[in-house]
Amino acid sequence: MTSPTYRPNILVTGTPGTGKTTTSELIALAVGFQHIEVGKLVKEKQLHNGFDEEFQSWLLDEDKVVDELEPIMQEGGKIIDHHGCDFFPERWFDLVVVLRTDNSVLYPRLKKRNYNTNKITENIECEIMEVVVEEARASYKEEIVKELQSNSLNDMEDNVDWVESWINEFEASGRQ
Ligand code: ADP
Ligand code: MN
Ligand code: MN
Repeated sequence: MTSPTYRPNILVTGTPGTGKTTTSELIALAVGFQHIEVGKLVKEKQLHNGFDEEFQSWLLDEDKVVDELEPIMQEGGKIIDHHGCDFFPERWFDLVVVLRTDNSVLYPRLKKRNYNTNKITENIECEIMEVVVEEARASYKEEIVKELQSNSLNDMEDNVDWVESWINEFEASGRQ
């Protein structure tokens, strides 16, 4: 008897506007994984401690999010999409993708979302200071963290293909 293939769990992270949700959705469709947008889950399941008016965002409750996701992650084949990553258990992920976008491209994307000035400035600074990449490198083994450029639709297509190939190789190697 062979045991069922273990499907890896993937984290897609990056500054807001770098393309996490769009890219994650495309990967999920391509490989039949479940895409979980943490921000959306937080709102739906009320995994927060109120709303931050200044930054117009929910104050996520890290413990509640981890408790909610733990049994789901055990199943494998999940793509978790979130702008932060330091509070997820390290053991959850087999691959951590950090999307990167040039500021000249990121700024108009955020503007188009009608983000207020505070939120645009916060996010542009976050990308310049490489906050998310550093958080990912501090939280996960270096060999599972992969930075991918996400400036154009062509980049996005390449990124989806890259992750799809990574999954195929992972599953073919029978890693557990
Ligand atoms: P995030 O989830 O990281 O905040 P989204 O996936 O919501 O980002 O993308 C923000 C906006 O930018 C969307 O309108 C999306 O279509 C666009 N976008 C994201 N990535 C790219 C890309 N690589 N090339 C062109 N447009 C992109
Ligand atoms: Mn998103
Ligand atoms: Mn955050």
